[in-house]
Order: sequence, then C-alpha cells, then structure tokens
Amino acid sequence: MARTFFVGGNWKMNGSIQTSKDLVANLNKAQLDPNTEVVIAPPALHLLLVKDLVESSQVKISAQNAYHKASGAFTGEISVSQLKDAQVPWVIIGHSERRTLFGEADSNVAEKTKAALAESLSVILCVGETLEEREKNETVSVVVRQLDAVAAEVNDWSKIVVAYEPVWAIGTGKVATAEQAQEVHAAIRKWATEKLGSQVAEALRIIYGGSVAAKNCKELAGQPDIDGFLVGGASLKPEFVDIINARL
Ligand code: PGA
Repeated sequence: MARTFFVGGNWKMNGSIQTSKDLVANLNKAQLDPNTEVVIAPPALHLLLVKDLVESSQVKISAQNAYHKASGAFTGEISVSQLKDAQVPWVIIGHSERRTLFGEADSNVAEKTKAALAESLSVILCVGETLEEREKNETVSVVVRQLDAVAAEVNDWSKIVVAYEPVWAIGTGKVATAEQAQEVHAAIRKWATEKLGSQVAEALRIIYGGSVAAKNCKELAGQPDIDGFLVGGASLKPEFVDIINARL
C-alpha cells in the first residue's frame, strides 16, 4: 500500500502575527504537490489565525504540544480537548525539546498521545536519540524504548505519524545521511511489524526530522522507509515549498 507523503512544518517559538501571516500567504500562492499531506504547527497563540488564513484543504494545522487532562488548574497548558474544540486536528507530541528542556518522560509522552487520540486528534509522535546515545550504539534501543512506552498505552496507530528526529541533527545543520536515516526508519518499521502487525506497519508513516532543507530533501525522500519530513528551521523559509515538493 502506498503511504501518502507527509511534510510537517514545526515553527517552534518563532515569529510574530505578521510573519505567521506571511508564511501562510507564501503557502497559499505556492504550487504544492497534490500528493503530499502538509501540516503546519505555528505557536499556540497563532493557531486560529493561521487556521483562518490557510486556503488549501491540503494544508492542516497542528499544535506543538498539549496537556492530557481535559481542563482544570494547569496554568499555562492547553488541553487536547481544547484543541479538538478549536478544530485543530493535529498535535506534535514528544518533541525532543519538550523531552530535554521541559522534562517530558516517555510516560508523559505516552499519556499525552493516548489523550490526544481519545479526542480524535492525529499525532506526530517524535522519537530520537542524542549524540551520546548514538555513539554508544544505542540508537535503535532508545527509539524502541520511546515507542514501546506509547504502545503500552495505545492500540490504534492509524492516526499516528512517527517522526524520527535524531537530537544531534535538530537545528544543527548536521543532517543524518540518507543511509543513517533509512537504517533507523527500517528499524522502526521492523518494530512496528513485530509489535503492531504487518498491516499497521505497512501503513505507518515514518518521517524524518533534523536539519531537513531543500538541498538534502530529495535524497532522503528517495529512501524506501522515509515517508516525509518534520521540518523546523526551513519551514520558516520559502524553501519549505521545495521540501513539500521533494517527490516531484
Ligand atoms: P530543524 O528542526 O529542521 O530546525 O532541525 C526539526 C524539528 O525540531 O522538528
């Protein structure tokens, strides 16, 4: 079964009302590969503005994080239920910046993923190893540990896209080689086959993130188990369109 190519843009904590408007205007006027699913994740404050400005039904919006409780005394958080209510259909969960800078453990990521799916949201689930873990040859065991934590809480993976993002490649300009990325993506698909069954594994989108740019996206996109990208820095530039069109 052919998997639909998926490109996410993670704007992180960048930009202003004006730059968010400009980024959407750029996407609105671009020619996008109609076979690519596009999801953009602006800062929470800009989600509804961006949602209103996006013209193409091909482009969906995503939150960058959410809290698993529906409501209550959790100052500063946004719940998965609030995202659903605001018709934000996607959420990024477990980004390495959430894990490392904000102390999210595998168990928190699993809990959030479960809660998001319970509200019928779709999830971009991020996994990936640090440089130290890679150097100790722990890449696959770390990624499997991160995925196992979610699999312990979640049965239905049809609304999950897995983003493999080696921490050492995020925002560093140091992209994984196509071979390095393909090797881990294949290991993730093998994990999915064994844990979730071959049908689920075949359908599961596994996207790569970490310094993806116009100049490296085509080679990465040509790998058999790379089904798209999660793009940070380059999603704030016009070249995001070239990355969406990596398969053209
Ligand atoms: P980057 O970020 O493209 O700037 O490396 C990717 C990400 O954090 O999702």
